[in-house]
Amino acid sequence: MSLNDFAIIESTLREGEQFVGADFSTDDKVEIAYALANFGVEYIELTSPCASPTSLTDCKLLSKLDIDSKVLTHIRCHMDDAKVALDTGVDGIDVVIGTSSYLRDFSHGKSINEIIDIAQSVLTYIREQNPFLELRFSTEDSFRSTEDDLINVYQAVDQLDVVNRFGIADTVGVATPHSVYNLVSTLRNLTDADIEFHGHNDTGCAVANSHSALTAGATHIDTTVLGIGERNGITSLEGLIARLYAIDPDYIRNKYNLHQLHKLNQIVADKVEIEIPFNHYITGLTAFTHKAGIHAKAILNNPETYEILNPNDFGLTRYISIAHKLTGWNALQDRASQLGIKINPDNLKAVTHHVKAMADHKRITLSDVDELLHQWADNNYNFDKTEGSSKKTSSTKRQTHN
Ligand SMILES: [Zn+2]
Repeated sequence: MSLNDFAIIESTLREGEQFVGADFSTDDKVEIAYALANFGVEYIELTSPCASPTSLTDCKLLSKLDIDSKVLTHIRCHMDDAKVALDTGVDGIDVVIGTSSYLRDFSHGKSINEIIDIAQSVLTYIREQNPFLELRFSTEDSFRSTEDDLINVYQAVDQLDVVNRFGIADTVGVATPHSVYNLVSTLRNLTDADIEFHGHNDTGCAVANSHSALTAGATHIDTTVLGIGERNGITSLEGLIARLYAIDPDYIRNKYNLHQLHKLNQIVADKVEIEIPFNHYITGLTAFTHKAGIHAKAILNNPETYEILNPNDFGLTRYISIAHKLTGWNALQDRASQLGIKINPDNLKAVTHHVKAMADHKRITLSDVDELLHQWADNNYNFDKTEGSSKKTSSTKRQTHN
C-alpha cells in the first residue's frame, strides 16, 4: 500500500504553546523551528501575533529564518487579527472560527449566518491584501457542529475562491476514525481545495483519526512534538510518522530526516520539562525493547518477526532484555557473543536455568547475567579445571545462597 502525498503542519509552536508546561522563549522557538525544519516538516505553525507583544515580534523573526519549512500563523476569524497577521511576513495564515453550538453560545456568540458574513469579509480582505499567501479557513469543534451548518459555512467560503485549504478540527477529541472519514469525505466532495485535519487526543484516537482523514482525502495533518497541546494534546508527530511508516516505509524514509526525530523530541521534552514517555511512539525508552524469550529468539533470527518499525531508520537500536525469568537461551547466546564468550550448548542451558531461578527470587541485572556467562564460559571452565576447581561449582553454590 502506498500513501498519497500529504504535508505535516507542525504546531508545536502554536498548539504546543498551549501545553501547560510550555513557556518558550524566543531562542527556544528559533531552536525548535530549526529542529523541525531539519526533520523536514513542510509547515511550522506559530501562535497568533495578537496573543502578546512577544508573539508578534517572534512571528516576524521566525518568518525570516532561512529554512525550507513554510511558516504559518493561526488567528481568530477577525479583521483586527487579520491585519496584524498580514504584517508579519508569514507564508500563510490559518483562520479559525467555532461552529458548534457550544462555541456559538458560550464563546463568540455568533449565529451561522453571522459566521458566514464575517468569514467572507475577513478571508476576502486577506486575499486582496496578499494574492500569494497560503490561506486556510477552518471551523472549530467541527465534530460537535451539525453537518448542515458545516456544509453551509464551507460552501459559502468555497464560492469566494480565495482559500487554499479548508480545516476540520476535532477540538475536544470526540471524533472516531469512522466519523473523521465521513466528514472529510463530505468535504472532499464539496471542494477541490486542500483539506487539513486537526485532532485532539482526549480519547486516544488522534493518530488513528489523522490516518483516517488522509484515507478520506485530507492533504494536511496537524501535529506537535510528543503530542503536546491543550489538555493531553493532539496527534503527535512521532505517532503520525510511525503510523505512516508502517504503511509505506520507503516514502516516509525519503520524505523526512528520520534520524533527527529523537533529538527533536529531546529538545522539546527538555524545554517543557517532561520526560519522553516510556511507551511513546518510536522514541520512548521501550519502543524497541524486547523481553520474552520466544520474542527474543525470533527477533535475533529476523527482527521483522516482531517489529514493523526498523529502529535503524530512526538512528536508534533495539534492545533485548535478558535479565529476567522470561529469558531464553537464544537471547543469552547472543549476549555471550556480544561479550566475546564461547559457551557450549549444555552450559548455556545451565546458565539459562540459573538466570530464571535467580530471577524468581529477586530483581536481577545485566551484570548478574554477564557474571554467570563468564563463569560458565568454555575458556573459564577449561581454565578452572586445570586449576583443579570449577567455577561452575562455586557459581552453583553461590546461587543457593541467593
Ligand atoms: Zn487544538
